[in-house]
Amino acid sequence: MQQMARPLLRPRRMIIEPLLQLIFPPRCAACDAGGQRLSQGLCAACVVTLVPTAGACCPRCSLSYLDEAAGGGAQVCGECLASPPPWERAVAAYAYGGALQDAIARWKNADAWWLSRPLRELFVGAVTHARLGVDCASGAPLVVPVPSVPRQLRVRGFNPAGVLAHHLSRTHGWPLEPRALVTRRTPPTTRDLSRAGRRRRLAGVFAPSKSRFPRSLKARQVVLVDDVMTTGATADAATRVLLRAGAARVWVATLARVPQVRPARPWPGAPA
Ligand SMILES: [Zn+2]
Ligand SMILES: [Zn+2]
Repeated sequence: MQQMARPLLRPRRMIIEPLLQLIFPPRCAACDAGGQRLSQGLCAACVVTLVPTAGACCPRCSLSYLDEAAGGGAQVCGECLASPPPWERAVAAYAYGGALQDAIARWKNADAWWLSRPLRELFVGAVTHARLGVDCASGAPLVVPVPSVPRQLRVRGFNPAGVLAHHLSRTHGWPLEPRALVTRRTPPTTRDLSRAGRRRRLAGVFAPSKSRFPRSLKARQVVLVDDVMTTGATADAATRVLLRAGAARVWVATLARVPQVRPARPWPGAPA
């Protein structure tokens, strides 16, 4: 079948795509600059602001520290030591900030559906099979996106996590379950709460979809996908629902992780 499909793909790659690029020249995903060579969908000024998390973050939750004195690297962060998350490993492609933050904001809020392509490429380029460490010996994992709130889905017309999940699924050949989870209510803000407080506030936000449950999740490994991880509370709540619904193990994959910023010097009045 592959041999037969190739001649059909060639005209698209050799004629249609260059023609489309001539009519719609690619623009920087973050600042919209055109007329220059792009790298990873970004112009030269924007691409340098990408901060990969690989090798410089907590191996359990992908939290990175923006000051170098904090070390980063392979150390498990304090929150994961005090209260281990329910997932095996959460992998983020990049730290949330700079041009990536601008591109994600445009993608989600500015009717810029075309940014799906560069952002999904950034995602799968950095969230590799090796980094996730999914054990495929016991079967391919299911890829499950964090669901959008219905009101946001109506406004945007797409679920950002769903776009990323679809591309991860296609890249690795892992089955996609786009509606394994549903949102029961709008997730509340949890930024200023402790991990236990965030968990309590998000209890009941997600539920397994009745139409698919329990056949699709039972004893399966799951890769849960979201666009941005801030505190980790959303992924924590969704992971717990997946595990209660019968999933064997859960990995989390996100495009960006909001880093923690530590001051270069101690706060005034902080104990020595
Ligand atoms: Zn740019
Ligand atoms: Zn951590």
